[in-house]
Amino acid sequence: MRYLVLSDIHSNLEALDAVLRAAAAHKYDAVLVLGDLVGYGADPNAVVERIRALKPVASVRGNHDKVAAGLDTAEDFNPMARAAATWTQDALSKTTLDYLRELPEGPTIVDDFIEICHGSPLDEDLYVVADIDAARSIAVSQRRLCLFGHTHVALCGRMDAQNRLEIEAPQGHPEFETVLEDDAKYLVNPGSVGQPRDGDPRAAYAIADVARHAVTLYRVTYPIEVAQKKILDAGLPPPLAYRLAMGR
Ligand code: ZN
Repeated sequence: MRYLVLSDIHSNLEALDAVLRAAAAHKYDAVLVLGDLVGYGADPNAVVERIRALKPVASVRGNHDKVAAGLDTAEDFNPMARAAATWTQDALSKTTLDYLRELPEGPTIVDDFIEICHGSPLDEDLYVVADIDAARSIAVSQRRLCLFGHTHVALCGRMDAQNRLEIEAPQGHPEFETVLEDDAKYLVNPGSVGQPRDGDPRAAYAIADVARHAVTLYRVTYPIEVAQKKILDAGLPPPLAYRLAMGR
């Protein structure tokens, strides 16, 4: 079984379409979605429609999905994220809204090998930035490979049998493969499809291969200027457009 792993798409249709085109060459069998389908970008309905059509075998909701669906308030959001959330709520079709409302809270067990969550298996809204949070998240994960998103930063964390943590960032690599060792547990963030924040503006995604016990992180270019123009034309906060070119 080979899974295409998508996280933090954030209403960026151009990035999602580039990822789906590139990923087709990897011949995946099923799709996993780690949350934040919407928020920030200008195409919430089209993005959710694409995801629905892919029929993910497992998905979890993100904090932006919760706010857009009216399941949480935007009080923890910064002013730009809040403005985008309000814009998104107004833009959502009934079909999109229903889909977002039904997204489950993580973590979710996918199979014998993989578990998925948005922030952390400890808390769906936790940002795993610090090593201590990565270590605690791996410790509670119920599978060898825990896939997470939320920070928009691609990374691969590994904890060995002696509880030693190692974090690798695939900085700048278009392709970064990790073959999982038998006696270690892993916490892997594929990076963000629609709003990368690790300094690499290319759209990020991953392929998790259960038979090979491998996960590969990929980056692909997309027409950033098209997504930017849509954000500006929609009246969303302009920095949300500019940051796409910087990958920040
Ligand atoms: Zn996000």
